[in-house]
This record gives sequence, C-alpha cells and structure tokens, in this order.
Amino acid sequence: MRIGFNKPYLTGKEIDYILAAVDSAKISGDGNFTKKCHEFFEKKYGFKKALLTTSCTDALEMAAILIDSQAGDEIIIPAYTFVSTPNAFVLRGAKIVFADSYSDNPNIDADKIEALITPKTKAIVPVHYAGVACDMDKIMALAAKYNLLVVEDAAQCIDSFYKGKPLGAIGHLAAFSFHETKNIISGEGGMLTINDERFLQRAEIIREKGTNRSQFFRGEIDKYGWVDIGSSFLPSDILAAFLYAQLENIENIQTRRKKIWQNYFDGLKELEKSGRISLAKIPDYATNNAHMFYLLCKDLAERTKLIDYLKEKGVNAVFHYLSLHSSPFFKDKHDGRALPNTDSFADRLVRLPFFYELTDAEQDYIIDAIRNFFK
Ligand SMILES: *Cc1c(COP(=O)(O)O)cnc(C)c1O
Repeated sequence: MRIGFNKPYLTGKEIDYILAAVDSAKISGDGNFTKKCHEFFEKKYGFKKALLTTSCTDALEMAAILIDSQAGDEIIIPAYTFVSTPNAFVLRGAKIVFADSYSDNPNIDADKIEALITPKTKAIVPVHYAGVACDMDKIMALAAKYNLLVVEDAAQCIDSFYKGKPLGAIGHLAAFSFHETKNIISGEGGMLTINDERFLQRAEIIREKGTNRSQFFRGEIDKYGWVDIGSSFLPSDILAAFLYAQLENIENIQTRRKKIWQNYFDGLKELEKSGRISLAKIPDYATNNAHMFYLLCKDLAERTKLIDYLKEKGVNAVFHYLSLHSSPFFKDKHDGRALPNTDSFADRLVRLPFFYELTDAEQDYIIDAIRNFFK
C-alpha cells in the first residue's frame, strides 16, 4: 500500500465555476465569485469584513501593514508556527518576540505572554494550531489591558470555534489559508478578516495597490488614485470560483474529516492510555475542526524511527515545524530564552496522512502499522 500525506479533494463543481468565471469576462479580482465567497464568510461566521487574498501569507502581510507594524515595534508570536507568521512583521522591520507553547498543546501559552509585554509591544499573533483555539479570552484581555492589537493566524482553523465564537472573528484581524493542504482549498489562496471598524477602509486600499479603487467601483467617489502604500493582494476571480465550489460543500467536507479524525483517535487511544504516545488535547473552550491528526513520540530518536518505519510500509507521515527561535535566519536575533515546549513539539510531533478521500481500509492499515511499531 502507498498512502501519501495529502491529496487535494475536489467537490466536482470547481471546473464548472471556473468556466462560468471565464465566461463572465471578468476574471480579475473582486468579480462575482469573490463577492459570493465574501458574503458566504460574513454570513456564516459573522466576520465584519472578509477579503480574499492570494494566500494567508499575503493576508498576514496586509495585517502587518494595517497595524502599522514598523521598526521599534515588538510582536509576540509563538515559536512553533510557520515562517509566514513572523515574516510578515519582519518585512515591516518589527522585532519578533517568540513565546513558548503549553507543555501539552502546541498553542501559545497565554499565561506566559504578559511577562513578554514591554512598552514597545504592538501586537500578539496567536496561531490556532491544528485548528484548535488558543485561549482567546486571556489574550484579548491582555490586549485590552496593554492597548495591543491581536492578529489571529487562522490559517488552519476554518469552521472552528472558541467558546462558540468562530475563530477569525475574535482578534482585530485574522488571516486564513486555502492552500491545498488545508480543509477548504483553492490551490493557493487566503483571506483577511477584519473585525475592527478602524481597519475596514484602509484594508481595501492596501489590497488594491494603495488606491481607493474599491470605493470607485461602488460609486462612492468619482475618480480613484494613489492614497496609501499597498500591493496586489487580491486573487483572480478564477481562484474564487474554485473556492466557492469548496465552500458550498463545507459541511460535507467537515463531516468526513471529523470522521477520519475520530477513526484515528479510536484506533490509537489504547496506545495513549498505555503511555506509549500522546494525542492532541482539545481544551474545553475549543472545538476540533479536524484539520490534522498528530501524535507525539517520546523523543526525536523515536519519532525518526517511527517515520522511517511508516515509510517502509508505504505511509507518508511527516513532522512539522522546526523551532523558529533557533532557525538559521533567526537564531542570532533571538534573545536567548529557552523555549522548551516549542522544542519538544518540534522534536516529537508526527502528522498522519489526512485527506477527504483517505479510506477506512487505509486508515486501518496506518493504525495497525503504528500499533506494530510500538509493540
Ligand atoms: C498554511 C499556513 C500559513 C501559510 O498559508 P499560505 O496560504 O500558504 O500562505 C501560515 N500560517 C500557518 C499556521 C499555516 O498553517
């Protein structure tokens, strides 16, 4: 058997909608399908404003511009995340202050953030790892107390909730991804959500190359021009057409993914009970959107052996982030604080194949292989 780590799932309507977008002869940004996607998100999740972007990386870069991140600022970010989270702020000249994870959950430890806040701190950027919420009440309370902004890296957390509130609707701004490895995809793709009115108008301008073209197209002004810095962050309507086909099937996609997650959990919980592995801990305040299934080995050596063993069996299981505070780019810039929980997840975490079309038989095969390994 050969089982890859990821396989993009197509709902069947993607090509039809792309053809419809092409036929409409409006294939640049903010066409019909883009509008449909924006409406879908705003209605279903209550985001004050949704703006499609070409990636989550772009949405994070937009957020960094919107909060006026610049040299002299400090941005608090977990060290266990993808490079795009800090890079967006590094591009603006800001200083990154990396925070550690909880010992039993890769998310930023909300109880350790306050000690990192200084008069220079401008924002906190929580990353909802595996689609499982960070403790947003604590983070938003710190933001209120110290007058900080919160940008959620919501790349992995479509359709996931914190105490009933949709992720991406809690921070001042949030960035989602529709990369082909996420639950809902468009190949490359992303979205900025804006929950604070202060940023609404400027977000449209930054996304449209620093012009007020969006207002012009709505007939609010009679000519448009260069009014701010900006870039080209909006996707072609062809991409939005693909995405809309996915959104129409979000319930179906999520139901299947949750079933796959539960199958793994049921198949591996005995190994957890016997202390051989650890599995994801979902806090009471969080939902599980079945973005990924991971397990934690005892240490790096055991994880390397497990990944190699699964590879021999034809199963492509993969590790995840390397600690960003000790990365080649950042290690000389880090202040030297040890971040032991980040390092522990970097060493011990293994992600199992996870995609809509993964069959029950394939899952049984993977679970058997893991049980055999630990026998
Ligand atoms: C996938 C991901 C990103 C980047 O998303 P792109 O759409 O590929 O730019 C950023 N942050 C996290 C946590 C991610 O998982």
